[in-house]
Amino acid sequence: MSSQKIFLFDFDGVIVDGMQEYWHSSLLACEKYLNSPSIYVDQELYKRVPNSFKEIRPWVKYGWEMILIVHEIIKTENPLKNHNKDDFINNYHPNCQKVLNENFWIAEDLQKILDKSRKYQIEKDFKSWVNLHNPFFEIVNFMKELRERGIKTGVITTKGKIFAEKILRQLNIFPEFIFGYESGTKIKIAEKLTKTYEILGFIEDRKKTLIDIKQNSATSHIQCFLADWGYLKGSDRYNLSHEIKLLKLSNLEELVAI
Ligand SMILES: [Mg+2]
Repeated sequence: MSSQKIFLFDFDGVIVDGMQEYWHSSLLACEKYLNSPSIYVDQELYKRVPNSFKEIRPWVKYGWEMILIVHEIIKTENPLKNHNKDDFINNYHPNCQKVLNENFWIAEDLQKILDKSRKYQIEKDFKSWVNLHNPFFEIVNFMKELRERGIKTGVITTKGKIFAEKILRQLNIFPEFIFGYESGTKIKIAEKLTKTYEILGFIEDRKKTLIDIKQNSATSHIQCFLADWGYLKGSDRYNLSHEIKLLKLSNLEELVAI
């Protein structure tokens, strides 16, 4: 194993809270590019992120799912609201598939229009787009501290790489690596990195991803931390295997001692 040390971070829900941005960009994608006859986009919708969207966010793995969820929330007939939200969540993946089928959509196309919506905002008013993200400054400082100690940092996200890169640059963070959805699954990326680096830890807010890392023999030695401040499902904090630690922002100091 190499003596080069690296610490890995998820992006959304770990380095930044992008809730407002997800809503805004997905809504804009629905309005400008989706061409769905089932929705009407009232400009008032941009002002506030609905609770139903916030509550479904912990189930989301890929960006395209957010377009689908926004569509279901704003559609004029039988929209997704608080009263039927649990039914949707309880069968999350099949329900997403059902909505895709009903509308003759392809997941990749939804991902493309989400990226297009982000690019449109970046070209039109970069600052406003950046301001839709709320950074967790404790993590930003932790990443800077690691760098000062000669430890490299890597960001692995299911977002498009260029979008994460733009935000990180604004925060004055320049990780050694940024991997977006274009680079494949997080587990494969971690597996490749283990060949060159000693991975000191991975902070992520999607519990299933950490479980997968722990269950894969090539990556099971990586210390995994579940970000308590991220988009967690209510049940995520319980029944954590002893191999995955629940990490709080206030406990980051202890990690610096690594
Ligand atoms: Mg995340």
